[in-house]
Amino acid sequence: EPLLEGPRGPGTAEALKDFENGYVWVRTCILCVSPCLIQGPITDFKSFVILADLFPGRQSVVKLLETLLEWLVSLPLEKIPFDAILDLVNNKMRISGMFLSDQLQWVGCQGSRVGLRGYPCSLWTLFHVLTVQAASRPDALANTGLEENPKAVLQTMRKYIVNFFGCQECGKHFEEMAVASLPQVKSVDQAVLWLWRKHNQVNGRLAGTMSEDPHFPKTQWPSPDLCPICHEEQDGIHVWNEDKVLMFLKQHYGAANISPKHMY
Ligand code: FAD
Repeated sequence: EPLLEGPRGPGTAEALKDFENGYVWVRTCILCVSPCLIQGPITDFKSFVILADLFPGRQSVVKLLETLLEWLVSLPLEKIPFDAILDLVNNKMRISGMFLSDQLQWVGCQGSRVGLRGYPCSLWTLFHVLTVQAASRPDALANTGLEENPKAVLQTMRKYIVNFFGCQECGKHFEEMAVASLPQVKSVDQAVLWLWRKHNQVNGRLAGTMSEDPHFPKTQWPSPDLCPICHEEQDGIHVWNEDKVLMFLKQHYGAANISPKHMY
């Protein structure tokens, strides 16, 4: 959520100065009971908003993101209407049918207690959805400059995690994984699978640690219950059938599988 406000309150002179200097404040909820604010470069925030073209969300949110994108992309920084952006993200433009939800409800990422799941779980989910959208709708990023780049979603995620995620340790690990293997991704399907593989790597590292919700143990995903055909055995050793995993991911994270009832 772009706040464009300084730590001392919305629309402060300090926040405006930061903005004019190319920095934006974003609200993050990781490891905080109440939201924290994180500052990062507007250029990296812009790349994140460009992915709105892939976001299969509610019309009111998509419209809001499109407007924000139009301002961020088409105007030079000093001409971006700061007050208008504040109005936009603070839901004062409801009249034009653009608004963010007032409620913060992690529908598919409900933790068994406060501080578990929630925001980081939703961020993984969002990026899985976006990689699947990029693979399923090749024209969605037309005229954004990203249409020829099969790694566009992953590169944006990489910048977002490093700058705005709020967990430095997570950012460091993610960056290490990206340095080691992101260059090998050559197609949008490989991008979907790369994120799945890396998420499982993180699950493996975090299993049994304090960040694990006991009601949602960290396992190698999808389990045989969720996708029996994803699992095979070769010479007595478990192997993934990656073609089947890809099919499963495209179905599970596909737009048709997102309930409009809970889409904010
Ligand atoms: P999550 O791991 O958040 O997964 C969300 C949902 O995605 C699951 O419920 C499941 O439905 C689905 N899913 C699970 N695995 C996969 C997969 N392989 N492919 C596709 N879908 C899957 N926390 C730390 O403590 N240390 C870290 O270093 C760290 N690094 C992180 C790096 C990133 C990029 C992100 C986004 C988060 C990181 N986190 C880290 C947070 C951590 O990974 C979990 O998000 C958090 O602990 C909540 O876990 P969860 O049980 O809700 O499931």
